[in-house]
Amino acid sequence: MVIVMKPNASVKELSGILKKVKELGLKPHIVKGKERTIIGVIGRSEINPEFFEAMAGVEKVVRILSPFKLASREFKPDDTVIKINGVEIGKKKIVLMAGPCAVESREQIIEIAHFLKEMGVKVLRGGAYKPRTSPYSFQGLKEKGLEYLNEAKKETGLAVITEVMSPEDVGKICKVADILQVGARNMQNFPLLEAVGKTDKPVLLKRGMMATLEELLMSAEYILSNGNPRVILCERGIRTFEKYTRNTFDISAIPLLKKISHLPVVADPSHGTGVRELVIPVGKSAIVSGADGLLIEVHKDPSKALSDGFQSLDFPMFSKLVTELKEICQVCGREI
Ligand code: PEP
Ligand code: MN
Repeated sequence: MVIVMKPNASVKELSGILKKVKELGLKPHIVKGKERTIIGVIGRSEINPEFFEAMAGVEKVVRILSPFKLASREFKPDDTVIKINGVEIGKKKIVLMAGPCAVESREQIIEIAHFLKEMGVKVLRGGAYKPRTSPYSFQGLKEKGLEYLNEAKKETGLAVITEVMSPEDVGKICKVADILQVGARNMQNFPLLEAVGKTDKPVLLKRGMMATLEELLMSAEYILSNGNPRVILCERGIRTFEKYTRNTFDISAIPLLKKISHLPVVADPSHGTGVRELVIPVGKSAIVSGADGLLIEVHKDPSKALSDGFQSLDFPMFSKLVTELKEICQVCGREI
């Protein structure tokens, strides 16, 4: 349930509620909104809302009907805006996150980072730990990859997003990453969700290949309920019977997620289509549909990429994407 405090509720009244919530063995999640404070109370459902309604400073108590609570719009009507290094995700201005699928060498990531910085990108992506279908494929440079990402970050000032695959790696990845990426294959790796939920880093949570939006939001709920309020949802396509594309990008997921959740939504048309030529049109469509940003794979020479080259944009194509996004942003009231 959500306890909505009166706009003029005092600090004493608020702490009285928090004390009561804790006494009942429940966990309060406080959100300070523009006008009033709301407290999410998650736990046993048998507590009668009237119990809190009668307390001083309380305006009303609302039961959240959806299975996800902290992630729902009912819990928090205002959009969540996530700030990292002066970048805000979840506002009018769209955020571009781009870079290679995998960090392949120091030179590779630094060169790409410089190019992207000039293009107005704010967040550099690059996998150091790669979830590959085949154990014989390139698995990422691991610690070395993190080291190179850190160098690219120091040289360019770009924020860094990189994937974390297991709870044991969370600590060392947090030392470099500004955003932790939980990949599609790990969307329901619950120990991992709990581990990233205990960090103070924003988490970009990718939709699982076969996940419904409710399942995605339930996974977000794991992170939120472990104390980390900074979750970014990512639509990256789902598996269907269509073979021309690697995945079927679910465009309706974007406005739907924005409707039922307050969390920012980023689109990944690279994995969402798996086809280089489709990345620009689908990326633009995602922005028109209300996405807060894009996650794009970019490589200097995609034909030589160690992973996902077929869906990576080269530099001229990325530049074309940015030019076209500028036009799109003008007509749909967004900024870039
Ligand atoms: C990636 O971003 O390189 C990746 C592996 O993505 P996904 O988890 O969406 O497949
Ligand atoms: Mn990839």
